[in-house]
Amino acid sequence: MDISVVIPLYNEAESLPELHAWIKRVMNAHGFSYEIIFVNDGSTDKSWEIIEKLSQENKEVKGIKFRRNYGKSPALYCGFERAEGDVVITMDADLQDSPDEIPELYRMITEDGYDLVSGWKQKRYDPLSKTIPTKLFNATARAVSGIHNLHDFNCGLKAYRRDVVKNIEVYGEMHRYIPYLAKNAGFTKIGEKVVHHQARKYGKTKFGLNRFVNGYLDLITLWFLSTFGVKPMHIFGFLGTIMFLLGLISAGVIGFNKLYDMYAGHPYRLVTESPYFYLALTTMIIGTQLFLAGFIGELIARNAPERNKYQIEKEL
Ligand code: UDP
Ligand code: MG
Repeated sequence: MDISVVIPLYNEAESLPELHAWIKRVMNAHGFSYEIIFVNDGSTDKSWEIIEKLSQENKEVKGIKFRRNYGKSPALYCGFERAEGDVVITMDADLQDSPDEIPELYRMITEDGYDLVSGWKQKRYDPLSKTIPTKLFNATARAVSGIHNLHDFNCGLKAYRRDVVKNIEVYGEMHRYIPYLAKNAGFTKIGEKVVHHQARKYGKTKFGLNRFVNGYLDLITLWFLSTFGVKPMHIFGFLGTIMFLLGLISAGVIGFNKLYDMYAGHPYRLVTESPYFYLALTTMIIGTQLFLAGFIGELIARNAPERNKYQIEKEL
């Protein structure tokens, strides 16, 4: 099979028939063999009935129905598990992404050799309250992930070589950073294509402004996991040692000063009367705590089932 189209959706009943007809038209015009996997993420409207009907009438249409609303990442994850096509395309269900982009995305994967091609909604039809934070979000994501050629990390329209989706694990709300996940898994040929974007025709957006706060926290998590995920001691042990030594040396200096003043017959204070003593003490305690956090992190990392899971590309 050439193409799997994976479509996560939550209450998008009005858009589905139109979206399906459009994808079908494009696929038939180019003679692709394909499947469409609708992942119904716990919709409370008629979405599932429509998917059932489409599936009865078209053998290419497949459906997955969640019992409740889990989020876009879990929906993508299950769609990826089911996908069988050589190229996997994801798109939103709200008709904001255009199926007309599919043939070119397919060509970029199969002929230009990209592992992942992300859409770039260069001209977007979203409210300002979304486009401005998005610019900031993408600049941060570029800097942290080191993928400098992407303008639009979170674009719903993306194409993947099948290996990519079978070897990354999207969870929580990590769908915003799939290119970063792919890069961490060793898929480095990541490209971009300018895509058409339209205003939402039916229904309303499913994400509020908190997406930017959560998105930022997720980015930090990913950075941390990819840098210190398997060796937490390298960060906590390092910081802990430095802090402990700083505290120890300061406490020593404070004690030595007192002893010196005492023997020299100068007026002197008890070390416990100096505020610096307490600062030094706190620093030593925090240093020890950080060190311990590192040890505990190592114990956890040692028990992680994927601690020895590597991306093996070929074997002879
Ligand atoms: N979506 C989903 N589960 C959710 C929220 C959203 O499957 O919990 C789907 C939604 O139906 C749409 C896509 O994710 O197909 C993108 O959502 P939306 O259009 O609301 O996001 P925006 O375009 O505002 O970024
Ligand atoms: Mg949308």
